[in-house]
Amino acid sequence: MPKHVLVIGAGFAGLAAATSLAQRGYHVTILEKNEGPGGRARVFRAEGFTFDMGPSWYWMPDVFEKYFARFGKRVADYYDLVRLDPSYQVIFRGPEAVDIPARMEELRGLFERYEPGSAARLDAFLRQAAYKYEVGINKFVYMPGRSLLEFADPRLALDALRLDVLQSMHTHVRRYFQDPRLLELVEFPTLFLGAIPQNTPALYSLMTYADLALGTWYPMGGMHRIVQGMVALAQEQGVTLEYNVPVQQIVVENGRATGVQTAEGFRAVDIVVAGADYHHAEQHLLAPEWRHYNEAYWDKRTMAPSSLLFYLGISKRLPKLRHHNLFFDEDFARHAQEIYEQPQWPSRPLFYASAPSQTDPSVAPEGCENLFLLIPVAPDLPDTEETRERYYHLLMDRLERHCGTSIRDAVVYRRSYAHHDFVQDYNSYKGNAYGLANTLRQTAILKPSLKSKKVANLYFTGQLTVPGPGVPPSLISGQVVASEVEKEN
Ligand SMILES: Cc1cc2nc3c(=O)[nH]c(=O)nc-3n(C[C@H](O)[C@H](O)[C@H](O)COP(=O)(O)OP(=O)(O)OC[C@H]3O[C@@H](n4cnc5c(N)ncnc54)[C@H](O)[C@@H]3O)c2cc1C
Repeated sequence: MPKHVLVIGAGFAGLAAATSLAQRGYHVTILEKNEGPGGRARVFRAEGFTFDMGPSWYWMPDVFEKYFARFGKRVADYYDLVRLDPSYQVIFRGPEAVDIPARMEELRGLFERYEPGSAARLDAFLRQAAYKYEVGINKFVYMPGRSLLEFADPRLALDALRLDVLQSMHTHVRRYFQDPRLLELVEFPTLFLGAIPQNTPALYSLMTYADLALGTWYPMGGMHRIVQGMVALAQEQGVTLEYNVPVQQIVVENGRATGVQTAEGFRAVDIVVAGADYHHAEQHLLAPEWRHYNEAYWDKRTMAPSSLLFYLGISKRLPKLRHHNLFFDEDFARHAQEIYEQPQWPSRPLFYASAPSQTDPSVAPEGCENLFLLIPVAPDLPDTEETRERYYHLLMDRLERHCGTSIRDAVVYRRSYAHHDFVQDYNSYKGNAYGLANTLRQTAILKPSLKSKKVANLYFTGQLTVPGPGVPPSLISGQVVASEVEKEN
């Protein structure tokens, strides 16, 4: 009889874990609390608009390709991927709007315009970042991070030394560039990792490589097409998905999980993989004696930011926008400070605007724009309607200025989303959006362990454990946990 694995949560990590385990012959069921799959990457439709609720940047296409290839499939079997050009637009202080070209020659030209001599330094910067990407993404992120012995192979140890984990991204990039706009450009991808460049190991210039060299892509139909593809693949492999079934408890006897409790009753299983937020699964679903960490431990973790989001349906086109628009028209350092060092609602935030209807007519009615606005903010802040309203107008002022037209009066649909919603919808710790930050002290074996240290057959996956936040890492996390389950069961 195949062993029965119960996976909690149908986010990227839960789906990847479940599908990988089903392929290896386990009998797998996913229980998801929400009415559909995708977790933070869910979708909703309103007034003819289709809104991706979370991720909008498709980076590292090789990670997705590799995932589907494990099952003898290709990304193209599930969705159509297009490369964006320009990759995105940045609105610097000034204000000055600049398109970041997809083609390397044009990008070098842009660097050279901002800082003579910097095109050659960009080449050098990308060469070392390519090495980090190659080693980091192909070797290190697939390691379970359970023991230092994993690094005992001398070649890996040498690679680890050359990966620049001890130098900060902040120091590293200043060896190559001086122009403040170029610095913001090469540092911004690290903001996705949930930490300021000063606290982020220079290893993560691999993200800048992913951005500037590998490109920004988009699955036609929206980011949720990835989720649909992954669900289809999971079902092809025999995974059963059940929605609207929150797990209430992981039942443990004599150091082994015997099953889970839901509102419908007890389900006996052989192995549990928790793909819900780690903190929730550990602190709320396990009885105290089976928790390895405690609230004090969690409280000391550096969480990645939460976000204040607006999903807007606009009844006209906004030609000055691109698909992705980064409003870096305020002080970068100050906003980062207000997220990480002195957590508070930001005084003059940077923000990000996504208009997928610039690429994809299917996500908005004809002649309309689908707009998603995001301000990264500290987790665990008081989240009130008044605050959301204040930021809505602040963002609108800047958007209208950039677009040179009124927008507020063309809003035909509007929904906001912040801390409360993350907690309610995903049992998110402190309302985090992107999990646990990838700081030096929270890398590899220093992350919450993907295997319970007290419950023999309980595993964790997702953006609060290895390898970290983001869609590609969550996808990898699910595959890594599946390998660990197979090794031990
Ligand atoms: C606004 C936003 C923008 C982002 N932008 C990007 C981007 O552009 N590019 C990128 O790569 N990444 C981005 N990310 C990050 C990326 O979306 C996440 O890292 C990734 O989706 C996390 O996947 P996960 O499987 O770890 O967790 P989740 O997606 O949170 O999945 C966990 C699942 O567990 C379920 N669950 C929770 N509790 C229970 C329970 N008790 N019982 C049953 N089920 C439960 C939840 O409902 C959820 O479905 C963004 C995230 C957000 C929020």
